Amino acid sequence: MLSQSVNIGIPSPKPYGLCLFLGPGGERCFNPAREDGFCSEHGESGEVVIDASWFRRGAALILLVVFLWVVFAGFLRELADWLR
Ligand SMILES: [Zn+2]
Repeated sequence: MLSQSVNIGIPSPKPYGLCLFLGPGGERCFNPAREDGFCSEHGESGEVVIDASWFRRGAALILLVVFLWVVFAGFLRELADWLR
């Protein structure tokens, strides 16, 4: 009766590797992934979390680098004037 399973015909138990979900602290999910790259627990909402998290981190990092560069360039200019 219920002899058919979804696993029949799939050679590897984990054909898509591990779940691609990343938590807010960067923690990985070690559940086997489905076709979309996420496990059944995370799914499409996991993709939204990972995108927002990495975008926010990237924007914060770029802002920090620009801020430090502006401060550093100003400091170098002051130093060059002072040494002259
Ligand atoms: Zn997951």
